[in-house]
Amino acid sequence: MIKTDILIIGAGPTGLFTVFEAGLLKLKCHLIDALPQPGGQCSEIYPKKPIYDIPAYPEILAGDLTDKLIEQCKQFEPGFTLGERAETIDKQEDGTFIVITNKGTKHHAPIVAIAGGLGSFEPRKPLLENITDYEDKGIEYIIKDPEFYRYKKVIIAGGGDSALDWSIFLSDVASKVTLVHRRNEFRGHLDSVDKVQELKNEGKIELITPAEVIGLEGDGKIQAISIKKGDETFQKECDHFVPLFGLSPKLGPIANWGLEIEKNAIKVDNALDYQTNIPGIFAIGDINTYPGKLKLILCGFHEATLMCQAAYQIINPGKRYVLKYTTVSGVDGFDGTRKEAPKAVVKKIE
Ligand SMILES: Cc1cc2nc3c(=O)[nH]c(=O)nc-3n(C[C@H](O)[C@H](O)[C@H](O)COP(=O)(O)OP(=O)(O)OC[C@H]3O[C@@H](n4cnc5c(N)ncnc54)[C@H](O)[C@@H]3O)c2cc1C
Repeated sequence: MIKTDILIIGAGPTGLFTVFEAGLLKLKCHLIDALPQPGGQCSEIYPKKPIYDIPAYPEILAGDLTDKLIEQCKQFEPGFTLGERAETIDKQEDGTFIVITNKGTKHHAPIVAIAGGLGSFEPRKPLLENITDYEDKGIEYIIKDPEFYRYKKVIIAGGGDSALDWSIFLSDVASKVTLVHRRNEFRGHLDSVDKVQELKNEGKIELITPAEVIGLEGDGKIQAISIKKGDETFQKECDHFVPLFGLSPKLGPIANWGLEIEKNAIKVDNALDYQTNIPGIFAIGDINTYPGKLKLILCGFHEATLMCQAAYQIINPGKRYVLKYTTVSGVDGFDGTRKEAPKAVVKKIE
């Protein structure tokens, strides 16, 4: 059981900044995200796009913003459960919560902050009969650890950046990489398309286009896939089949947690602290709604800051907290580091 002060569901910009604000209040955080990496929409949808409305950054790439947020919160040593979706929540008699993921990982905390954005990103699956029989038995929709594919025969399907990038990367790791796409054209960065062409010419990637995967074969585990190319249908052996057809966000299991939902978002008390209708559960960032709500990164940062103050009061009832500027108090990391502004010196001038 993973124990923490604030359990954050969603490691997007809002979730990551919550770690920093909670850290200032000496509260520890653990984040769960369905994606294999932190950053939410910024890292999953538009890492290379510039954002122009982050205060004090006239321009910053979404991927760089994620890196900076991770760097900023690192001193507060957040824990991460990545590649897992928060599935169920149970309120205990003492008011604390147990959250269990789809992979069975258990988390226990007095406060839950839902920073789930548009919802958990779920893979778009190809419509193949019996595909669920092979999930995690040779079929994966997200590549978490490329080492998992070392010396294995891997077939990737898809025509976007993920399919191209992973084919390139795995061509050095797997014993064989085959890329199947239903068109001859790929929708990816030009560099990646050129690189795949080069690796194909060198015989390091087998390209099968325009073609479609139409069947799965295996005995308890995937062993081969059936491919249709024009009028021809044939089988191709593999240890892994990885369809990379993109991810789409879904509110998912959170919709069944007894929270007040309005237009696919969680209603919160914005006059006070972004608490939901269940005391101890907060919703911040894109996932919440209240009069005048704006789905912007800076609004998520603001909501996270106020929410942490309320969490502090719940965890430390009756204890007064006096807000201090970081320029005055400095920042004491849980990792033993201390950041502080240089002290003024008193020195006589002769
Ligand atoms: C193309 C594009 C451009 C944009 N440009 C700007 C801009 O210029 N300025 C701006 O301010 N905003 C911009 N936005 C919006 C901005 O990205 C969002 O406001 C911001 O990402 C919200 O952050 P968040 O942390 O609340 O949610 P998200 O970034 O959506 O992160 C939520 C995370 O929660 C996870 N999650 C959800 N449910 C679960 C669950 N049950 N279990 C586990 N994990 C879960 C998801 O996987 C996701 O990683 C843009 C958005 C897009 C798509």
